[in-house]
Amino acid sequence: MSSKPTVLVTGASMGIGAVYADRFAKRGHDLVLVARDRDRLEALAQRLRRETGVGVEVVRADLTDESDLAQIEARLRDDARIGILLNNAGASIPGTFLTQSTDTTAKLIGLNTVAVTRLAGAIAPRLVKAGQGAIINIGSVVGLAPEIGSTVYGATKAFVLFLSQGLSLELGPKGVYVQAVLPAATRTDIWAKSGHNVNDIPGVMEVEELVDAALVGFDLRETVTIPPLPDAGQWNDFDNARRAMLPGFRQERAAARYQTAA
Ligand code: NAP
Repeated sequence: MSSKPTVLVTGASMGIGAVYADRFAKRGHDLVLVARDRDRLEALAQRLRRETGVGVEVVRADLTDESDLAQIEARLRDDARIGILLNNAGASIPGTFLTQSTDTTAKLIGLNTVAVTRLAGAIAPRLVKAGQGAIINIGSVVGLAPEIGSTVYGATKAFVLFLSQGLSLELGPKGVYVQAVLPAATRTDIWAKSGHNVNDIPGVMEVEELVDAALVGFDLRETVTIPPLPDAGQWNDFDNARRAMLPGFRQERAAARYQTAA
């Protein structure tokens, strides 16, 4: 058993989650791998046990299923060895707001926001009590860019960013590190699953590069990590512009442009 905290990785069966699992195993962390595809999880677990010697457990769960989600929540609440939660499982869906069904968007919102919130909520009190630990939430630059056109997906990722920033403010002073990672286009199966050919998209990052960069941000204890953004000052300017508005929100009267003559 490793002396380092165990990492629970959601969406570990492929893509970004599988590479995070590989990297945390190579750092000597035991793992709990969660996703729906048990065979893929088992294959990854076997390779990581063989190559790194860490303990790897597989838990099959559909995070849009109430009882499966409750099972992972219970694990995060009760297993004191788990000190890092990687909220990575997520999906995108084909089409536009006008063509997507409400069933599909509800399921997307359930996976990308409700599950993320509930899993963070399950582990946070225990981490706060211990005064240590980390929650990593995988957002997306799409959450900053309605222009990209994935409106509901982007809205779920804007939620993940806000949730992470809020949790960082709430839990950070109590010793718990919260990181939002905002990838841009990264070469994984998410593209094919949502009806796109990744080869048609310019500027696609390889998944290993994305995860290794995100882990640099993790080690630096960044609140928000945007691996592809060349100029970190742009994010800082954006965040400072937002903060500069805050005093303006506390007003008894509407702004002059909204005052009526009467
Ligand atoms: P991916 O290759 O499609 O992997 C998604 C992972 O989530 C898989 O392991 C999948 O496993 C799991 N998953 C999907 N639905 C699930 C469910 N209902 N319950 C449990 N697990 C589920 O996609 P990815 O690109 O690695 O995406 C990982 C995260 O990065 C997502 O949050 C995504 O939004 C975000 N992201 C990706 C990109 C990109 O360009 N790739 C860009 C920005 C952000 P099973 O199918 O086995 O359940």
